[in-house]
Amino acid sequence: MPVTVVGSIAFDAVKTPFGERERMLGGAAVHFALAASFFDEVRIVGPVGDDFGEAELDVLRRHNIDVSGIEHVHGGKTFFWRGEYGWDLNSRETLDTQLGVFENFQPKLGPVAKQSDVVFLANIQPDLQRAVRAQLPDTRFAALDSMNLWIDVARDSLVAAINEVDCLILNDAELRQLAQKPSLVGAAREVLSWGPPGHRAVVAKLGEYGAALITADGYFSLPAFPLETVVDPTGAGDCFAGGFVGYIAAQGRDKPLAPTLLRRAMAYGTAIASFNVQEFGTERVARLRMDEIDERVVDLRRMTAFS
Ligand code: AMP
Repeated sequence: MPVTVVGSIAFDAVKTPFGERERMLGGAAVHFALAASFFDEVRIVGPVGDDFGEAELDVLRRHNIDVSGIEHVHGGKTFFWRGEYGWDLNSRETLDTQLGVFENFQPKLGPVAKQSDVVFLANIQPDLQRAVRAQLPDTRFAALDSMNLWIDVARDSLVAAINEVDCLILNDAELRQLAQKPSLVGAAREVLSWGPPGHRAVVAKLGEYGAALITADGYFSLPAFPLETVVDPTGAGDCFAGGFVGYIAAQGRDKPLAPTLLRRAMAYGTAIASFNVQEFGTERVARLRMDEIDERVVDLRRMTAFS
């Protein structure tokens, strides 16, 4: 099933203990789209400015990502984010965020993006997420990511947006903040109780510690793939979401929320995220191959199985 993703398309400046990049292709929608493109057709939607050129578009096109939904705002500047990590790569400091063309972004999906059966609402203002959702009312599977900023300044709208999707994907600390509960499982079940009854899921991203999948009556978790060297965690969460949602799109036509499918999707998300952090920005995922992903999923299964 084709996937539409709406979110930031960005230039990032990143510094970690292992090096730095002053300007590289980034953005939640870009990381997601590259990861999901290994599984199914992906359509990316978001605004860019005059500084976004053919070289950046080519990275996406090489992965067969449909870029017709990228809106070029003439005279505008592409979203820019600068962040720095210390030795604890699970936490980072945002040093600069320049919204640029995102400031006046009003998502209007074109005909291609509107035909998708699956949608991922990457981390943007929740009213915009709802505006996108309203244009894709009949999807088979919808998932959403967010961040602490929106819990602080737009909580009601975020809760409404969450109640309109099948799956929430959020960092563990943000999930606890949103539900105002200290236990991860308790927080996830609280969030699930706000929405319509039925089969829905929450994925808590735990950074270096992996990810947990919580449904009303189920729980599954996977550690992150063990790596001795991590260079840049930027975009790992979005790559996880891209692998997770992309796998569901490719395999879940009949039952996108079947428990066994969700678990395998967790493994593919985990595998792709692990490649992402081995180099800066999109560098590693841009030249990743499907057989490398499959191999890591097999390794993960071996590492986590016991009898
Ligand atoms: P992640 O590391 O998965 O949380 O995602 C990092 C990506 O999110 C970077 O490539 C940034 O360009 C993008 N980003 C950072 N801050 C924001 C924000 N406030 N809204 C949307 N995207 C953002």
